[in-house]
Amino acid sequence: MKKLRLLTPGPTEVPPEVLAAMAAPIIHHRSAPARERFARVQEMLRRLFFTRRPVHVLTGSGTAGMEAAVVNHFSPGEEVIVIQAGKFGRRWGEIARAYGLTVQALEAEWGEVVPAEQLAQVMANHPRCRGVLATHVETSTGTLFDVRAFAEVVDRSEALLVVDAVASLGAVAFNMDDWGVDVAVSASQKALMLPPGLALVCASERAEKRWEQAQSARFYLDLRASRRAMDGGGTAFTPALSLWAGLEKALEMIHAQGLENIWRETERLAAAARAGVSALGLPPLSQSPAPSVTAARLPDAVDGRRLVELLQERLGLYLGGGQDQLAGRIVRISHMGACDRLDVLAALAALEAGLAELGRAVAPGAGVAAAVGAFATGA
Ligand code: PMP
Repeated sequence: MKKLRLLTPGPTEVPPEVLAAMAAPIIHHRSAPARERFARVQEMLRRLFFTRRPVHVLTGSGTAGMEAAVVNHFSPGEEVIVIQAGKFGRRWGEIARAYGLTVQALEAEWGEVVPAEQLAQVMANHPRCRGVLATHVETSTGTLFDVRAFAEVVDRSEALLVVDAVASLGAVAFNMDDWGVDVAVSASQKALMLPPGLALVCASERAEKRWEQAQSARFYLDLRASRRAMDGGGTAFTPALSLWAGLEKALEMIHAQGLENIWRETERLAAAARAGVSALGLPPLSQSPAPSVTAARLPDAVDGRRLVELLQERLGLYLGGGQDQLAGRIVRISHMGACDRLDVLAALAALEAGLAELGRAVAPGAGVAAAVGAFATGA
């Protein structure tokens, strides 16, 4: 039997308790038990985002949440600044352009960050900018951006700070209200330990005031409809009921462990993974490595696509490869959701075996030893 291990940076493994919850018979969404579930989930979601604001649960993947953030807050012709240093920052720009917004791209090399001072400068040059679209953890490069510092800069203006927290929420410290984030977007298939299919969107009071002004065409992703339904205890459309059942279970598990504990342990997993990949001769790609996903550079002689395939075929282990211009050049290990220290060690042992098969043998156990050392010192 080949045991499957899903250590890709989304989708991530779904724990058995969550799978079992999703297998329960469907309850009708306009029933008392469903409304009670929506209320329990809403309360737990607000604690996840650290917000007093409503959290909208939309049926769709993370990109649907990003699109909802764009269409509900901006109008064609309005100018937004998009922080782009990877595939998902780029996606913000693509969505904004698709809806006729004028995009000022604030770009950095993939794996680098954009400092808040640079954002402040660009904002000063674009005083009519209506929004800043940023990514908290850029999954394609394993990079953590300083969203809190962005919020301080944006707070001084009329612009809204819109944050893609798809690969951070529930894995990395994030505090919507305290930091002053206006719109936050996340998705089910990362740190929330669910299958893909739910997008989460939360808007500040200031952001919600834009909903009536925004002229972008929208129907399914109209947050006004979602808000009206939520105020009545329901959802605007038939919700993905099985995913909601899983969401309730996953949120219970997350809050039972405690978000601060999860953030701390996720950082330890990432530190050990970085020590391990470095010992294998695969240095971390990012200037500001994310706790939720580690991206490691591969030597030019190693075909990254083949390496990822080999680990799937031989060992049933799924790691992320590179995307777009990083295709074949990096490997990515997720530390989000249902993964633990043994998973990090398994990924490193597998990488060692894969590298050896591709002619890049290292000292036996070097990656695992470095990670075990990192765990021992709590580095
Ligand atoms: N943003 C980030 C940071 C992501 O990692 C992803 C998914 N990999 C998305 C957005 C897009 O989400 P989806 O694929 O669920 O539409």
